[in-house]
Amino acid sequence: VDREHAAREVAAAAGDDAVVPARELDRYAPDSSGAPSARPLAAVRPLDASGVARVLAAASRLRVPVVPAGGRSGLAGGANADGASVVLSLDRLDRIGAVETGNLRLTAGAGARTCDVQAAALAAGLFYPPDPASLDRSTIGGNVATNAGGPRCFKYGVTAEYVLALEAVTADGRIFRTGAATRKNTAGPRLAQLLVGSEGTLAVITEATLRLVAAPAARLAATARFDSLERAGAAVAAVVASGLVPSAIELLDRTCLELIGLSGDAMLLLEVDGPDAARVRADLEALARGLRDAGADALATASDPGAVDELWRARRGLSDAFAAAAPDHLFQDICVPAAAVPDALRGIAVIAARHGLAVPVFGHAGDGNLHSTVLYDAAAGEADAAQAAEADVLRLALELGGTIAAEHGVGLLKRPFLARAVDPVALELMRAVKAALDPNGILNPGKVLP
Ligand SMILES: Cc1cc2nc3c(=O)[nH]c(=O)nc-3n(C[C@H](O)[C@H](O)[C@H](O)COP(=O)(O)OP(=O)(O)OC[C@H]3O[C@@H](n4cnc5c(N)ncnc54)[C@H](O)[C@@H]3O)c2cc1C
Repeated sequence: VDREHAAREVAAAAGDDAVVPARELDRYAPDSSGAPSARPLAAVRPLDASGVARVLAAASRLRVPVVPAGGRSGLAGGANADGASVVLSLDRLDRIGAVETGNLRLTAGAGARTCDVQAAALAAGLFYPPDPASLDRSTIGGNVATNAGGPRCFKYGVTAEYVLALEAVTADGRIFRTGAATRKNTAGPRLAQLLVGSEGTLAVITEATLRLVAAPAARLAATARFDSLERAGAAVAAVVASGLVPSAIELLDRTCLELIGLSGDAMLLLEVDGPDAARVRADLEALARGLRDAGADALATASDPGAVDELWRARRGLSDAFAAAAPDHLFQDICVPAAAVPDALRGIAVIAARHGLAVPVFGHAGDGNLHSTVLYDAAAGEADAAQAAEADVLRLALELGGTIAAEHGVGLLKRPFLARAVDPVALELMRAVKAALDPNGILNPGKVLP
């Protein structure tokens, strides 16, 4: 009862009208990962940074755990509540400031949706490239907190590369700004970058000043089909090694193709963009030559923008399609060096066969970022095999010089594996940073650090 009373006091610190009614609390328990979650004690949706600051000051004083949340599209369980926490939803901090065309930047509230930030930039003739497939749900705060990627990141880089400055709130409720709105800044260590990928464990982000680039005037898409997944992987490695930089190289295996209503063994979905149409066409032709040399047995250039949009929509629905395709699934987000993509694909197939489970793969292959997904049925007694298969896939990624978490973060799901993935001294330093920034351990406890 004391805990409940304290949680209510924390939520009410942002004003009674910011407190989520009890009947709606269940909605604030899970993200999109399927990781364990429970109805929080309370949830609050402050209107501005000072409301966030009051909530955190109260939480620190009363030692109530706070779970920051944006669009709840996360795939690692980072925004998942437990029965002892208060969810701090940033969704109402969604103001998008005017695009500063002369300075190639804009400032957006943490709760602004990624697609709305992209649309604001485009309306001013500029481009905000990071494009998580969840962009119609995810928020800029969540993107920064997970260092989100997406298909276009092969050419343009991930969210971290677009963060110039942040406004954030410390665990004890102090609002601060860090970074600079300039292209260059060496005034002290890069504290803003420390918050990138910190998954709500170090501070709560309330606003981000983001770098923009010129919008590409031309864009062409193509598909390349292969008679084996490994051959498609080898083609990816060859394209990357050739120095060609398409704006996307997405890989889909047989199961993924079936899930979006297509057939075949493996397909690459490619996109090339740039400032002028002739150049983009020439780049696509060079890419097509490279893919044919690497064994593509069917290549189609999609000239109809409607058909291209349709293919991308289907591709973006894949993570949700997996959730529906089997009673249970374990979704991975590994990243290996591009040259190791064929080895990774071969290794995943061996692991799947060893455990007798389906492990379909899709992903941002140009980055070496593979979303292999272990499909299983816990009711049929397959849970242990599925967990063993997941551990094998993560071990494989590390053996190939890669990482267990590329763009979704660690959250709850990858937490048991973090100690294997990072240097022990580095892990100790991560703990020291956490203790310095959140001495009472109220910010998203139980996430990320083992
Ligand atoms: C269908 C689908 C496709 C996806 N595709 C991609 C993809 O292509 N690339 C990719 O990178 N991701 C992808 N994701 C994962 C997810 O969308 C990203 O991780 C996204 O960045 C999460 O944003 P969010 O606002 O929903 O954050 P949430 O899920 O609400 O939170 C994510 C984490 O950030 C923390 N957090 C949220 N807001 C703040 C804040 N303001 N301050 C501090 N911490 C905060 C939370 O505590 C949590 O740890 C996909 C998800 C789905 C469901």
